[in-house]
Amino acid sequence: MGRQAWPVCTTEDFSTKWWNSTVIATESLDALIDQVRPFLSRGEVSNYLPELSQARSDELAVAVDLGANGVITAGDNGATFTMQSVVKVFTLLLALNYRGKEYVFERVGRDQAVGSYNSLETFIRDSGVPVNPFVNAGALVIVDMLPGHDPDSRAAHVLEFIRALTGNAEISMNIDTARSELLLADQNRALGYCLRSRGLISTGVEELLWAYCQMCAIEVDVVDLAHASRVLAGGSDVHVMGQVLRASQLRLVRRLMLYTGMYEASGHYACDVGIPAKCGISGAMIGVVRHHQGIGIYGPALDKSANSIGGLRLMQLISATLDID
Ligand code: GLU
Repeated sequence: MGRQAWPVCTTEDFSTKWWNSTVIATESLDALIDQVRPFLSRGEVSNYLPELSQARSDELAVAVDLGANGVITAGDNGATFTMQSVVKVFTLLLALNYRGKEYVFERVGRDQAVGSYNSLETFIRDSGVPVNPFVNAGALVIVDMLPGHDPDSRAAHVLEFIRALTGNAEISMNIDTARSELLLADQNRALGYCLRSRGLISTGVEELLWAYCQMCAIEVDVVDLAHASRVLAGGSDVHVMGQVLRASQLRLVRRLMLYTGMYEASGHYACDVGIPAKCGISGAMIGVVRHHQGIGIYGPALDKSANSIGGLRLMQLISATLDID
């Protein structure tokens, strides 16, 4: 099966009614990529996993899903890459839908993280639960909430969700990357045991890690990310996989992305750019322009906060072009 015609999921507001002043044309995207490329040499690709360290630091690609006006792309857009932390946005959405807001936020916080995304220090502050769903401890608690009786069925459910949101039935997991992460996941393992000792997860740590590693290893391209982000941009309910994603859930996820999506740089990012976004350690990045556009970016050269250098700069320029706020 190939990429299916959009929409696999349906929404009520993907019309052109918001489509007036904020047009990004392919030529302007090309120009933005040219402007950003010189900065890529300032970053380094992640060496967290051998598979990630093979990425090319000079690669940069972007796709913008304009809804009824189609998708435009620029840069090295043939590349595929694993979602890594970007998947946390979609696992959160599934958990909100499956368990409800109250259940989810009794078990993870909604605060900005101080410190590294996978550290024990950012794990638990005064509230006694992980600070938010996008630090690793919080993401593991979210995975624990998802439907499925074993790690493979849990991960398969998330994969199906991503396929439905992107309209791409060919998306799969990069199992080598998932296995490699499982072998090297001692930091996440430590978080898992802390969570379990505090009664915050019910799944066994190894099972939970294997589900999580598979979700992080879902392999996409920038067009897939743009499609999935466009769903998040919706201002009304979205029908997908027989479920209804409520507009209020999408709004909540966008808000969290705005102030917690960019690791330690989240506060600066929210102030400078103002577009809800989420980065992953592979260089994957999504951005969501409410009612308008879904943005997918791949730029594996990372800054010291593990954010995509190219992605950040592209988002700054896109935000300025759109004059969003
Ligand atoms: N799989 C990675 C981890 O859990 C994702 C990290 C990231 O993208 O920030 O450490």
